[in-house]
Amino acid sequence: MSRPLLCATVFETGFEEARVAMLRAAPFADLLEIRLDALPRPEPEALVAMAPRPVIVTCRAEEDGGLFRGTEKERLALLRRGVDAGAAWVDIELRAADRFDAGPAKRIVSHHDFEGTPRDLEALLARLRDRGAAVAKLVTAARGPEDVLRLLRALRGADFPLAAHPLGRAGRPGRILAARFGSAIVYGSAGAAAAPGQPTLRSLVTDYRLDRDLSSASVILLLGGNLDHSVSPRMMNRAFARASIPALYVPFEAEDPGPVLAALGELEAVGAAVTIPLKETVIPLLHALAGDAERVGAVNTVVRRGDRLVGDNTDLGGALDALHAVLPSLDGLHAVLLGAGGAARALALGLAEAGARLTIVNRTRRRADRLAREVGARTGSLAELDPEEVDLVVNATPVGQWPRCHETPVPAEFLRPKHVVFDAVYNPLETRLLREAGEKGCRVVPGIEMLARQGARQIEIWFGGAVPPGLREEGVRALEARRTVMLVGMRGAGKTTVGRLLSARLGRPFLDLDAEIEREAGRSIPDLFREEGEAGFRERERRELERALLRPGLVLAVGGGALDSPRARELVARFRPRVVLLAAAEEVLAERIRGSDRPSLTGKPPEREIGELLARRRPVWESLADLEIDSGRGPPEEVAEELERALRS
Ligand code: NAP
Repeated sequence: MSRPLLCATVFETGFEEARVAMLRAAPFADLLEIRLDALPRPEPEALVAMAPRPVIVTCRAEEDGGLFRGTEKERLALLRRGVDAGAAWVDIELRAADRFDAGPAKRIVSHHDFEGTPRDLEALLARLRDRGAAVAKLVTAARGPEDVLRLLRALRGADFPLAAHPLGRAGRPGRILAARFGSAIVYGSAGAAAAPGQPTLRSLVTDYRLDRDLSSASVILLLGGNLDHSVSPRMMNRAFARASIPALYVPFEAEDPGPVLAALGELEAVGAAVTIPLKETVIPLLHALAGDAERVGAVNTVVRRGDRLVGDNTDLGGALDALHAVLPSLDGLHAVLLGAGGAARALALGLAEAGARLTIVNRTRRRADRLAREVGARTGSLAELDPEEVDLVVNATPVGQWPRCHETPVPAEFLRPKHVVFDAVYNPLETRLLREAGEKGCRVVPGIEMLARQGARQIEIWFGGAVPPGLREEGVRALEARRTVMLVGMRGAGKTTVGRLLSARLGRPFLDLDAEIEREAGRSIPDLFREEGEAGFRERERRELERALLRPGLVLAVGGGALDSPRARELVARFRPRVVLLAAAEEVLAERIRGSDRPSLTGKPPEREIGELLARRRPVWESLADLEIDSGRGPPEEVAEELERALRS
């Protein structure tokens, strides 16, 4: 199999952190790069000895973008110690390459440019090649798509082992595409990012499946504005890997899609997916439109046919496929469509063509009127409509989308058991609209059904063949992975210990809210309690909780009193984390917290205080919890294992 070596860069400031980062990254990594310059007191011998994979030792001076502040002699001596300790590889900068004998270790000769991508890449590559290293490494900052494309060109043209990737946000697609264009090594972080735009190695493997042979893979770019929250790369790449389809789907943020579309041929891309805000912008850049693109007036799929780029639209077909799975015929049904934007337009055309009678409801009536005229529909408001006369309710607005999951575009009173309710919003998987519709006995169609089906149609357009199974399942998993798991329960229930173990098992960042509060405030919780009183502390805690919940995909442990106030509980409704109640018997809790420095709220002995607090808090936690686990039954490892199983099932 031909694929790059996958390397996890360990860039931690403490020995213990470095050890944990290595263990976490090891299942995904062929190599571990230890950045000695990140450690205030590096001990290369100990680090190399405990590394579970072959090691690259690296020690970057400040002038090379690293943190090492000692003399050059000291720096080279540290690298020497790493090599003598048995590091398989050593990374030495181009400027110092002639002064360092790597001995038995393989040499990586590297050059970094944090300012930009030099004009004369050829000359730089020639200098790197002339050093005769086992691998030459070139890393340059990308200011835009052109820099990414130039570096990939250099990579593809190299006739010697070269590892290369661009830096910075604009460079992110290049880091992934480097795996396709022959980079000898692909780097991701083991924990803390060592360079701007560096993804974790875990995400390079889980989201992009760079552990596959991609040397002849068809490239598909996802073009759009901010693609941070897109679930499509993970959904598509994992479905491709499952079906052994050699294809790599790579997000490429671009304000101006022109240069990227022009480079599709050079990138050997079969095409591109297009998302907000470029669905209309790309049309004049294409040679032809096909399928539904013309009448929808938007393109979400580009396919390269020789030198020609053809635009298509699968939103309409995907939405109808999702609806037809529940309603084989839409003919004569009365559909209420909320929204008049891009998704609503595709849905309005599809519903009208399928024979539905349509009422369009939109915040801006003018836009609704315009769309209604085009498709022969009526406009109105929910208040004017008789719900009994409605068969189908379709939401094509972003109302209810994360992080405003507590909102709904349709009051629950409007819903009737006879309604079929379709929500185009796919994050969260179950929106408030769908939940309330389900409670009323309606049949529901979640947005992920449309997302997966429009994706299936895209794959048909790009590859002309059968669609890989499991697209929907992978989409669901990708969305679940973005949902924070929040551990609640009494002090002493093991939230921090179990939380840490769970975060390692799930490969997610762990955040302990109490520790975060102390870090932000620069004071301990007992001090904050004393200075601000309980009310002041709870308000501070609520603010920190909100900030934490805005970060997707965490394992989050919160203090026992964090959800005492209704305002704090509103945050749970708004962000919809998966709430896990860690419970334990009162005696177990009392035993665990005896001797803790945390303030008592009542001044009573632990047994009494726990009993009183539990009586008050437990009903609240139970009302919010998706899962309850007894954390007093066994050791924390077993609790974390059981929890992982429950969360994955
Ligand atoms: P868009 O073009 O920006 O249109 C948004 C529509 O929602 C407009 O009609 C807008 O009304 C209305 N709207 C926005 N905020 C509102 C609010 N607070 N209250 C009431 N109405 C509001 O967006 P889009 O591309 O159509 O996307 C709409 C939703 O569909 C998004 O959540 C998107 O993720 C989802 N979507 C899902 C899929 C899928 O495959 N499941 C595919 C495409 C889109 P005004 O006209 O008054 O501004």
